[in-house]
Amino acid sequence: MSHKPVVYISPGHMDPYYTLEKAGLGPDVDLRVMQSPDRGYMDGAEACQADAIMTWRTRIDAKAIDQLEHCKLIVRLGVGYDFVDVEAAARKGIPVSNVPDYCTNEVADHTLALLLAITRGLPAYIDSVKQGTGQWEWSAAGSLYRMTGKTLGIIGLGRIGTAVALRAKAFGVDVAFYDPYTRDGMERSLGLRRLGLDDLLAQADFLTLHTPLNDETRAMVNSTFLAKLKNGVYLVNTSRGGVLDSTALEVALREGRVAAAALDVMPTEPPDSELALLKAWRAGEDWVKHRLIVTPHSAFYSEEGEIDMRVKATATVREVLDGLPARNVVNM
Ligand code: NAD
Repeated sequence: MSHKPVVYISPGHMDPYYTLEKAGLGPDVDLRVMQSPDRGYMDGAEACQADAIMTWRTRIDAKAIDQLEHCKLIVRLGVGYDFVDVEAAARKGIPVSNVPDYCTNEVADHTLALLLAITRGLPAYIDSVKQGTGQWEWSAAGSLYRMTGKTLGIIGLGRIGTAVALRAKAFGVDVAFYDPYTRDGMERSLGLRRLGLDDLLAQADFLTLHTPLNDETRAMVNSTFLAKLKNGVYLVNTSRGGVLDSTALEVALREGRVAAAALDVMPTEPPDSELALLKAWRAGEDWVKHRLIVTPHSAFYSEEGEIDMRVKATATVREVLDGLPARNVVNM
């Protein structure tokens, strides 16, 4: 009897019945849900049976990868692949794929929503009207400044960074970017300004982060980086929490060098409740009140995007089980 391929998938998935995945893989595949807790680590005993792995937020570390005996592919159900030790997988000759395109528009929309919310003073306005004290005060958010004509700095002009750039142009914003890895000429086709990092930091009125999290970008936005920014800059991060040093951001916010910040991602998720910035914000301390927005790593989400992600990830696994090359490989 021929071996029925075994595919392990993360628990804590959006659909507890894995309907799309089962339909896409077909009846000749044994789809099993990992027993390890969501956001935990894949169990070695399960790993050794896997022909393919689909992970959402379960970490596939070097220990699990060491146990893989006949795994042909690891797919990350999402864009960022920092949940998988991609180098350990490459050393074993196992491709790691992601689904790079299911939420490009959603994350770009969310980024603009966050940027507009902090620059238009929404947290303060909403709070003032909600208090129900009869306040109907256009000045409740303090001084606000015109967006048109200001400079938006984008760090990382990939899929999402580009989608943000195109949206921002509709607001009459001057869009500049820093990305040492994009091909020359991208700035011309998109009508953007390409700058060196220091120049970008010196010119940006708004800054948004769109790099992957890797050894080069981890804590890239630290106190030295923030010190190079214009006073009163607005900062948005929908990339990965680890790109930004939250202690350095707290200091910059306290000192007023950063006017306001909006974060969809945190260094650990769910975030450590002892994190000073979050603690002060949750306590409604004056210095940070209305100057911070935090959303729960939700920029990717839309009903349509979720379906795209699951269908595309499943199709990638099916193709590899059928002997076709993996698409969107990130580690080879
Ligand atoms: P992408 O690979 O298309 O683009 C990343 C860009 O960053 C590339 O152009 C690359 O050249 C550039 N880059 C790499 N290192 C850099 C550096 N040191 N300095 C400047 N630029 C650098 O990725 P993407 O699909 O646009 O995703 C961007 C980020 O968004 C990733 O971190 C991803 O994990 C994150 N993301 C978040 C959510 C969410 O829900 N918040 C959803 C999807 C993706």
